[in-house]
Amino acid sequence: MAAKLGENYIGTAGQLEYFLIFRDYGPSGLIDPENPLLLKLLEKALIGFEKGTVKGFGEMHTDNHNDLGSKIARAIRADNPAMRKMFQLASRYDGFVQIHVESSPQALEDILRLALDFPRVNIVLSHCMPRSTPVQLAELFANRPNIYCELSATGPVHDVNGKGGRVFTRDGIEPRWKSLIVRFPDRFLLGTDPCCGLENRYDEMVNELRNHFLPALPVDLQEKIAFKNAVQLFRLKE
Ligand SMILES: [Zn+2]
Repeated sequence: MAAKLGENYIGTAGQLEYFLIFRDYGPSGLIDPENPLLLKLLEKALIGFEKGTVKGFGEMHTDNHNDLGSKIARAIRADNPAMRKMFQLASRYDGFVQIHVESSPQALEDILRLALDFPRVNIVLSHCMPRSTPVQLAELFANRPNIYCELSATGPVHDVNGKGGRVFTRDGIEPRWKSLIVRFPDRFLLGTDPCCGLENRYDEMVNELRNHFLPALPVDLQEKIAFKNAVQLFRLKE
Protein backbone atom coordinates (compact mmCIF):
# COMPACT_ATOMS: atom_id res chain seq x y z
CA MET A 1 0.00 0.00 0.00
CA ALA A 2 2.76 2.43 0.97
CA ALA A 3 4.61 1.78 -2.28
CA LYS A 4 1.46 2.22 -4.36
CA LEU A 5 0.07 5.30 -2.62
CA GLY A 6 3.36 7.08 -1.98
CA GLU A 7 2.83 10.37 -0.21
CA ASN A 8 -0.87 9.68 0.10
CA TYR A 9 -0.36 6.66 2.32
CA ILE A 10 -1.30 7.33 5.93
CA GLY A 11 1.37 5.32 7.73
CA THR A 12 -0.06 4.28 11.07
CA ALA A 13 1.67 2.25 13.75
CA GLY A 14 0.49 0.12 16.60
CA GLN A 15 -2.73 -1.73 15.84
CA LEU A 16 -1.06 -5.10 15.35
CA GLU A 17 1.13 -4.70 18.43
CA TYR A 18 -1.88 -3.62 20.48
CA PHE A 19 -3.67 -6.83 19.50
CA LEU A 20 -0.60 -8.89 20.39
CA ILE A 21 -0.22 -7.19 23.77
CA PHE A 22 -3.89 -7.89 24.49
CA ARG A 23 -3.55 -11.52 23.40
CA ASP A 24 -0.40 -12.18 25.43
CA TYR A 25 -0.87 -9.97 28.49
CA GLY A 26 -4.59 -9.13 28.66
CA PRO A 27 -6.05 -5.70 29.33
CA SER A 28 -3.54 -4.88 32.09
CA GLY A 29 -0.75 -5.27 29.52
CA LEU A 30 -2.31 -2.55 27.41
CA ILE A 31 -1.85 0.09 30.09
CA ASP A 32 1.67 -0.99 31.17
CA PRO A 33 4.18 1.62 29.96
CA GLU A 34 7.00 -0.94 30.31
CA ASN A 35 5.34 -3.77 28.41
CA PRO A 36 8.05 -5.26 26.17
CA LEU A 37 5.84 -5.29 23.07
CA LEU A 38 4.92 -1.65 23.66
CA LEU A 39 8.58 -0.71 23.99
CA LYS A 40 9.30 -2.51 20.71
CA LEU A 41 6.39 -0.72 19.07
CA LEU A 42 7.67 2.66 20.24
CA GLU A 43 11.13 1.86 18.93
CA LYS A 44 9.74 0.85 15.54
CA ALA A 45 7.40 3.84 15.42
CA LEU A 46 10.27 6.21 16.20
CA ILE A 47 12.16 4.95 13.14
CA GLY A 48 8.99 5.37 11.05
CA PHE A 49 8.36 8.92 12.28
CA GLU A 50 11.99 9.79 11.52
CA LYS A 51 11.77 8.36 8.01
CA GLY A 52 8.33 9.87 7.46
CA THR A 53 6.72 6.46 6.88
CA VAL A 54 4.70 6.70 10.11
CA LYS A 55 2.39 9.63 10.81
CA GLY A 56 0.60 8.41 13.87
CA PHE A 57 -0.76 5.56 15.96
CA GLY A 58 -3.97 3.67 15.50
CA GLU A 59 -6.48 2.34 15.63
CA MET A 60 -5.96 1.74 19.35
CA HIS A 61 -8.95 0.04 20.98
CA THR A 62 -9.32 1.16 24.55
CA ASP A 63 -13.00 0.54 25.11
CA ASN A 64 -15.04 -1.61 22.77
CA HIS A 65 -16.68 -3.71 25.46
CA ASN A 66 -20.10 -3.47 23.87
CA ASP A 67 -18.86 -5.36 20.81
CA LEU A 68 -20.43 -8.40 22.40
CA GLY A 69 -18.90 -11.72 21.54
CA SER A 70 -15.88 -9.99 20.05
CA LYS A 71 -12.60 -11.66 20.93
CA ILE A 72 -10.98 -8.25 21.11
CA ALA A 73 -13.50 -6.70 23.51
CA ARG A 74 -11.94 -4.82 26.40
CA ALA A 75 -12.48 -1.71 28.51
CA ILE A 76 -9.43 0.21 29.66
CA ARG A 77 -9.01 3.92 30.27
CA ALA A 78 -8.12 5.95 27.19
CA ASP A 79 -5.83 8.06 29.35
CA ASN A 80 -3.39 5.47 30.66
CA PRO A 81 0.39 5.34 31.09
CA ALA A 82 1.05 3.27 27.95
CA MET A 83 -1.16 5.49 25.81
CA ARG A 84 0.66 8.53 27.15
CA LYS A 85 3.92 7.09 25.84
CA MET A 86 2.43 6.94 22.35
CA PHE A 87 1.15 10.49 22.72
CA GLN A 88 4.59 11.67 23.85
CA LEU A 89 6.21 10.21 20.76
CA ALA A 90 3.47 11.41 18.39
CA SER A 91 3.78 14.87 19.92
CA ARG A 92 7.42 15.14 18.86
CA TYR A 93 6.38 14.70 15.22
CA ASP A 94 3.03 16.55 15.25
CA GLY A 95 1.44 13.16 14.69
CA PHE A 96 -1.97 11.74 15.42
CA VAL A 97 -3.43 9.02 17.62
CA GLN A 98 -6.60 7.28 16.49
CA ILE A 99 -8.61 5.74 19.31
CA HIS A 100 -11.60 3.44 19.29
CA VAL A 101 -13.29 4.36 22.54
CA GLU A 102 -16.93 3.99 23.43
CA SER A 103 -18.53 7.03 24.92
CA SER A 104 -18.75 7.19 28.71
CA PRO A 105 -18.28 10.03 31.19
CA GLN A 106 -14.80 8.69 31.93
CA ALA A 107 -13.90 8.41 28.25
CA LEU A 108 -15.02 11.97 27.53
CA GLU A 109 -12.92 13.23 30.43
CA ASP A 110 -9.91 11.20 29.29
CA ILE A 111 -10.07 12.46 25.71
CA LEU A 112 -10.37 16.06 26.87
CA ARG A 113 -7.38 15.63 29.18
CA LEU A 114 -5.19 13.94 26.56
CA ALA A 115 -6.06 16.63 24.01
CA LEU A 116 -5.16 19.33 26.53
CA ASP A 117 -1.91 17.72 27.68
CA PHE A 118 -0.77 16.98 24.12
CA PRO A 119 -1.84 19.99 22.05
CA ARG A 120 0.42 18.99 19.16
CA VAL A 121 -1.22 15.59 18.80
CA ASN A 122 -4.39 15.31 16.77
CA ILE A 123 -6.80 12.79 18.25
CA VAL A 124 -8.98 10.95 15.74
CA LEU A 125 -11.99 9.27 17.28
CA SER A 126 -12.81 6.08 15.39
CA HIS A 127 -16.39 5.73 14.20
CA CYS A 128 -17.06 9.18 15.69
CA MET A 129 -16.85 7.58 19.12
CA PRO A 130 -19.26 4.63 19.35
CA ARG A 131 -22.37 5.37 21.40
CA SER A 132 -21.59 9.07 21.68
CA THR A 133 -24.23 11.70 21.10
CA PRO A 134 -23.82 14.81 18.92
CA VAL A 135 -24.06 16.85 22.14
CA GLN A 136 -21.08 15.02 23.65
CA LEU A 137 -18.99 15.44 20.52
CA ALA A 138 -19.88 19.13 20.33
CA GLU A 139 -18.52 19.47 23.85
CA LEU A 140 -15.23 17.85 22.81
CA PHE A 141 -14.89 19.88 19.60
CA ALA A 142 -15.83 23.17 21.23
CA ASN A 143 -13.28 22.74 24.00
CA ARG A 144 -10.29 21.39 22.05
CA PRO A 145 -8.99 22.26 18.58
CA ASN A 146 -7.19 18.91 18.16
CA ILE A 147 -10.05 16.40 18.27
CA TYR A 148 -11.40 14.89 15.05
CA CYS A 149 -13.78 12.08 14.24
CA GLU A 150 -14.02 9.66 11.37
CA LEU A 151 -17.31 8.39 10.08
CA SER A 152 -16.65 4.71 9.43
CA ALA A 153 -19.29 2.23 10.57
CA THR A 154 -21.88 4.96 11.01
CA GLY A 155 -24.00 4.21 7.94
CA PRO A 156 -26.42 1.59 6.59
CA VAL A 157 -23.90 -1.18 5.80
CA HIS A 158 -22.85 -1.50 9.44
CA ASP A 159 -26.25 -0.47 10.79
CA VAL A 160 -24.88 -0.50 14.33
CA ASN A 161 -28.07 0.84 15.86
CA GLY A 162 -30.45 -1.43 13.95
CA LYS A 163 -32.17 1.68 12.58
CA GLY A 164 -30.33 1.86 9.28
CA GLY A 165 -27.24 3.73 10.48
CA ARG A 166 -26.11 5.79 13.47
CA VAL A 167 -25.09 9.01 11.69
CA PHE A 168 -26.66 8.54 8.28
CA THR A 169 -29.14 6.21 6.65
CA ARG A 170 -30.33 5.70 3.10
CA ASP A 171 -32.50 8.78 3.72
CA GLY A 172 -29.55 11.05 4.45
CA ILE A 173 -27.90 12.39 7.60
CA GLU A 174 -29.72 12.25 10.91
CA PRO A 175 -30.66 15.89 11.67
CA ARG A 176 -28.81 16.22 15.01
CA TRP A 177 -25.65 14.83 13.41
CA LYS A 178 -26.06 17.10 10.43
CA SER A 179 -26.20 20.15 12.69
CA LEU A 180 -23.04 18.96 14.45
CA ILE A 181 -21.20 18.46 11.16
CA VAL A 182 -22.28 21.85 9.84
CA ARG A 183 -21.15 23.45 13.11
CA PHE A 184 -17.74 21.72 13.09
CA PRO A 185 -17.02 20.88 9.43
CA ASP A 186 -13.24 20.84 9.96
CA ARG A 187 -13.39 17.94 12.38
CA PHE A 188 -14.93 15.20 10.23
CA LEU A 189 -13.26 12.61 8.02
CA LEU A 190 -14.74 9.82 5.94
CA GLY A 191 -14.01 6.21 6.84
CA THR A 192 -15.10 2.71 5.83
CA ASP A 193 -14.07 0.00 8.36
CA PRO A 194 -14.41 -3.14 6.21
CA CYS A 195 -13.82 -5.27 9.26
CA CYS A 196 -15.22 -8.12 11.20
CA GLY A 197 -17.25 -10.00 8.62
CA LEU A 198 -17.79 -7.01 6.32
CA GLU A 199 -14.48 -7.38 4.46
CA ASN A 200 -16.22 -7.94 1.14
CA ARG A 201 -18.44 -4.89 1.41
CA TYR A 202 -15.83 -2.14 1.03
CA ASP A 203 -17.33 -0.89 -2.25
CA GLU A 204 -20.76 -0.65 -0.65
CA MET A 205 -19.27 1.41 2.18
CA VAL A 206 -17.69 3.81 -0.27
CA ASN A 207 -20.92 4.00 -2.25
CA GLU A 208 -23.09 4.74 0.76
CA LEU A 209 -20.81 7.66 1.63
CA ARG A 210 -21.04 8.90 -1.96
CA ASN A 211 -24.77 8.40 -2.33
CA HIS A 212 -26.30 8.96 1.09
CA PHE A 213 -23.81 10.94 3.18
CA LEU A 214 -21.97 13.51 1.05
CA PRO A 215 -24.96 14.66 -1.06
CA ALA A 216 -26.86 15.43 2.16
CA LEU A 217 -24.27 18.08 3.09
CA PRO A 218 -24.10 21.68 1.92
CA VAL A 219 -21.97 21.75 -1.26
CA ASP A 220 -19.19 23.85 0.29
CA LEU A 221 -18.62 21.23 2.99
CA GLN A 222 -18.59 18.17 0.74
CA GLU A 223 -14.98 18.47 -0.45
CA LYS A 224 -13.72 19.32 3.00
CA ILE A 225 -15.16 16.21 4.53
CA ALA A 226 -14.56 14.00 1.50
CA PHE A 227 -10.80 14.64 1.51
CA LYS A 228 -9.54 18.15 2.26
CA ASN A 229 -9.67 17.74 6.03
CA ALA A 230 -7.73 14.48 5.71
CA VAL A 231 -5.14 16.03 3.38
CA GLN A 232 -4.50 18.67 6.00
CA LEU A 233 -4.66 16.47 9.08
CA PHE A 234 -2.40 13.73 7.69
CA ARG A 235 -0.25 16.12 5.64
CA LEU A 236 -1.02 14.32 2.37
CA LYS A 237 -0.43 15.57 -1.14
CA GLU A 238 -3.61 16.88 -2.74
ZN1 LIG B 1 -12.86 0.47 15.52
